[in-house]
Amino acid sequence: MKAAALIVAAGRGARASREHAPTGSSAPKQYALLAGRPVLAHAIASFDACPTVGTITVVIHPDDREHYETAVRGTSTRLTPPVLGGATRQESVRRGLAALAGTPPGVVLIHDAARPLVTADIIARVLAALETHAGAIAAEPLADTLKREDDRRVIGETVARQGLWKAQTPQGFRFGPILSAHTGAAEADLPEFTDDAAIAEWAGIEVALVPGSARNFKITTPEDMAMADDLLRSPAPAVEPRTGTGFDVHAFCPGDHVWLAGVRIPHDRGLLGHSDADAPLHALTDALLGAIGDGDIGQHFPPSDPAWKGAASHLFVEDAARRIAARGGRITNVDLTILGEEPRIGPHRDAMRTAVARMLGIDVARVAVKATTTEQMGFTGRKEGLAALASATVLLPL
Ligand code: MG
Repeated sequence: MKAAALIVAAGRGARASREHAPTGSSAPKQYALLAGRPVLAHAIASFDACPTVGTITVVIHPDDREHYETAVRGTSTRLTPPVLGGATRQESVRRGLAALAGTPPGVVLIHDAARPLVTADIIARVLAALETHAGAIAAEPLADTLKREDDRRVIGETVARQGLWKAQTPQGFRFGPILSAHTGAAEADLPEFTDDAAIAEWAGIEVALVPGSARNFKITTPEDMAMADDLLRSPAPAVEPRTGTGFDVHAFCPGDHVWLAGVRIPHDRGLLGHSDADAPLHALTDALLGAIGDGDIGQHFPPSDPAWKGAASHLFVEDAARRIAARGGRITNVDLTILGEEPRIGPHRDAMRTAVARMLGIDVARVAVKATTTEQMGFTGRKEGLAALASATVLLPL
């Protein structure tokens, strides 16, 4: 399911941009330069890095055509012609959605150009959640204690922060429902919604919260602009790359399907194992654990423990990913090789990559799935079973 990205850049806010304006004038902040590149171009580049994003459309202010053409030059081949926005952000989004309706995408990711530090991984998490929800937004749990002022600028009350999240963008939705919601809000003369999730809530669309990032903040003030500039210019934090490898084997047994890399594949035999016998995911779990020197799958999930009988192996992969996240680590890529004469892997490769990317919360471009036979030699060649190899690269803070 290809997604359309709709980037909203029609605002007039110039107060963040004075020092960074490309011409020394006060261009709107989305065209100001961050680390030598327009704010809008950074946002476009993040969506361009996602292979599941089919088209990128920007909603611009009618006065900004020239700024736009200059800003987007050379950014992405997936850009469609810009759409002219309206008087409010809400109206601009509605016009953008209406422009996409001619060739309706499966899902749309609505993003504010003023969040240039969005990453492909955040976008991937929102897209993954849209497989099971009609709406999903990037958001951050609130860490600060909230105060409500009284009318004299002193604290009137402390607001309980439990369960509160800060909404970010992208905000993703199945296309039909969000178009109807926006159209309905306009017809009902309700122009005051502050984000698209609020319109979705009003329309009764369930919206999931997925982790954004503190870096994905919205540039509003000159201070924000300076902070984003610093982040983009500063050398990346000191990390060391770690690699891990894994290997696993399962024997064929009577059955009618196999699980491989999180995908159920109908087959004239099954694979024998205590869990669902997903050898590629077991190899991957060991590769992830190996990268951080944290034991192996058998140590964390002993086959002697009845709790794991018939278990879905994505649980093992997700546990390893959590162990990496708990150390502040980041998975840069994983690479799986499946060895066997059957079943054929090619038709399922994309589904496997998508499934693994989702388990790890990373973009699908960071996941490879390969397959080979062993030229009819050995146990795999005799079709007694199949084997899987995996490697993983993780960046750990120094
Ligand atoms: Mg195994």
